[in-house]
Amino acid sequence: MYLDHAATTKIHPEVKKVMEKVSFANYNAQYYEGAKDIKKQIDNATMSIANNLGINENEIVYTSGATESNNYIIKGIITKYPKGHFITSTIEHKSVLETFKYLETLGYDISYVSPNNKGQITLKNLKEVIKNNTKFVSIMYVNNETGVINEIEEISTFLHTKKILFHSDIVQAMGKLKINFNLFDYVTISGHKIAAPKGIGLAIIRSNDIPISLLHGSNQQNGHRAGTLTNELIIGLSCAIDLIYKNFDNNKKVLEQNKNWMLNFLDENLGNSYVVNFQESIVSSILSVRIKGQIGQIFLLENSDIIEASTGSSCSINEPSYVLKECNFSDEEIQETIRLSFSPYEKLF
Ligand code: PLP
Repeated sequence: MYLDHAATTKIHPEVKKVMEKVSFANYNAQYYEGAKDIKKQIDNATMSIANNLGINENEIVYTSGATESNNYIIKGIITKYPKGHFITSTIEHKSVLETFKYLETLGYDISYVSPNNKGQITLKNLKEVIKNNTKFVSIMYVNNETGVINEIEEISTFLHTKKILFHSDIVQAMGKLKINFNLFDYVTISGHKIAAPKGIGLAIIRSNDIPISLLHGSNQQNGHRAGTLTNELIIGLSCAIDLIYKNFDNNKKVLEQNKNWMLNFLDENLGNSYVVNFQESIVSSILSVRIKGQIGQIFLLENSDIIEASTGSSCSINEPSYVLKECNFSDEEIQETIRLSFSPYEKLF
């Protein structure tokens, strides 16, 4: 059983099918049929993404994935405001956390908000670190190790009354929650977590405050990101997003059923020697589980013929989880934890 969909997903067969039909020409070449054709295909794909998400086409920037989107948005805004104050959380994905840590070494004023005892970033905790000159806040929607949903609506409403720019890495919320894109100034999405290929992601720029480009070169994507557009990947991503929106209710049901099936499986095979780490305000795609008296890494290695999963984030596979540490887990509890994550396109039952 592949149970590591929070790390990466297989490409959906329909996504594969549409990618095979994409022509090779350069989007910016305008003088021959192939170029006109790809321009039409990519423009349609962009329009479809915009319609599904309820945003404008010109707010979409194609990137190589969520790591690049996070770097682009965070560095691109913060470096515009040398006198500003900036906030993120201690449980962000490393592509956010390490970007802030790097900016801190350059002298930028950064604060880190910790989760409450349920692993959730709340408005109350955020308010404790807000300053008069806070300019930009980056808080993920759903944590990739715990599955806990942060207080995004409350945080967004508060930040917008204060005119503070708000970015959210929604990688693990896409396709799992109904998302209101009006909550955000900037959004990060990754293709390979939603059955699209690896190497494609979105940075969505809703604010008029545009991040400084990470990649300079020619004027592709209105100067947001230089580099030739990746035809197949863009069209694959657009198709994957369309599948999410077309199948949302059914996908949600399958994710719930997968999770319940897994809980029964754990009951039958482990009895009461396992604990579900987070129970409240969680998505149904991620289950953080502690196997009592077992080291998670060894458990996964010994049972890899039955379960293919991770202990936590695949970006920090050999370190004890800083996310669980921030959630006040003991070293022993961290060692015992594994993460099981599900796809709406692969039924376990
Ligand atoms: N943000 C979150 C919450 C993630 O879970 C991941 C991947 O693990 C990333 C960012 C990085 O995504 P990508 O592989 O597209 O760079």
